[in-house]
Amino acid sequence: MFENECEELGRQGLLRMLRRIDSSQGPSVILEGREVVLLCSNNYLGLAEHPRLRQAAQDAIERYGFGSGASRLISGTMSLHEELEARIARFKGTEAAIHFNSGYAANTGVIPSLAGERDALFSDSLNHASIIDGCRLSKARTFVYRHNDMSHLEDLLRVWNGQGRRAIVTDGVFSMDGDLAPLPELVSLAEKYNALVMVDDAHGTGVYGLRGRGTVEHFGLQERIPVQMGTLGKALGSFGAYVAGDHGLIRYLLNSARSYMFSTSLPPAVCAASMAAIELVDTEPWRRERLWQVRERFVTGLARRGVAVPGSPSPIIPVPVGDADKAVAAADRLFQEGIFAPAIRPPTVPPGTSRIRATVMASHNDSQIDQAIDVFGKLADEGFFRKARHG
Ligand SMILES: *Cc1c(COP(=O)(O)O)cnc(C)c1O
Repeated sequence: MFENECEELGRQGLLRMLRRIDSSQGPSVILEGREVVLLCSNNYLGLAEHPRLRQAAQDAIERYGFGSGASRLISGTMSLHEELEARIARFKGTEAAIHFNSGYAANTGVIPSLAGERDALFSDSLNHASIIDGCRLSKARTFVYRHNDMSHLEDLLRVWNGQGRRAIVTDGVFSMDGDLAPLPELVSLAEKYNALVMVDDAHGTGVYGLRGRGTVEHFGLQERIPVQMGTLGKALGSFGAYVAGDHGLIRYLLNSARSYMFSTSLPPAVCAASMAAIELVDTEPWRRERLWQVRERFVTGLARRGVAVPGSPSPIIPVPVGDADKAVAAADRLFQEGIFAPAIRPPTVPPGTSRIRATVMASHNDSQIDQAIDVFGKLADEGFFRKARHG
């Protein structure tokens, strides 16, 4: 079944394949039988394989068993779910927090709660797919503004004269380009036009801000962004997502977000691992410092080897290729040379902007990064990447 559809995707260079890892998440992994440097995980702080997360999960399994048996509103609220929510609220410095099964579930549940048929949503053109789907599910009038273009956003806010609520939704860190949303300007506009702001900090949580609270802390906007969403499966090395905010918001979401109400809650062991991860973000700030060191080493090394990369301020470093086919060929060459970083193609990114998306982790050692720089340099010489003007 569906052979034609798959063939068509193949012709466009868009057919995807799963790559199997037979080890923990890095910094080097066994990929299809070969040891390679993992350069595409969002496990930024190296917590996914941390002994404290393993131990916390094992202890929770001993005490509570594995599955949670039901949705949160039936019998699926266990003590660890509540402890985790209290811990997230303390971490984020908000009155309360609500825990979702994934970031995808959070966005598709929360956005339709914030805006309905009579309301308007304003969404960045490079927002994550789960935000796009949340906007669609909401049935709200959705205005897509050009990426990070605050004057376009203001034009759209000014034009909308409906009666309902206005809500602006943005990634804190854009997942495929690694750039940040201009949150201070965005919040000022929101205040001027009386719009609600929701920030999705999937890639910011644990990484940005002096204390790892995310991009909202980075910009000092804790008091001015009412809906702070983030995930626990990336830098925190666990699984699940949260929304932090005031009591009213959290109580309302608990009563309206369908992905929360109608889905079995996470196993308590996952909650225990998430709490252990938050604790490590608090007590081991050196992981963030190391992450920034690794990033600096990688980016300056690429520049030295003449590989052009756009100036991303994050551990996400996109290396532009252009063509989907060529990006796939580049990823194959990287793998041959011992580096795992896949091609990112449409529909994840706009046509013609296919790329290798490299991500660095605090757990990479210098020699792994130097190896990666060498290989990228070699591929640039082979004509896969644009050359930087200053080598
Ligand atoms: C990864 C990601 C999500 C989805 O989170 P999951 O927990 O993986 O479902 C949502 N938003 C953004 C910006 C992301 O990068």
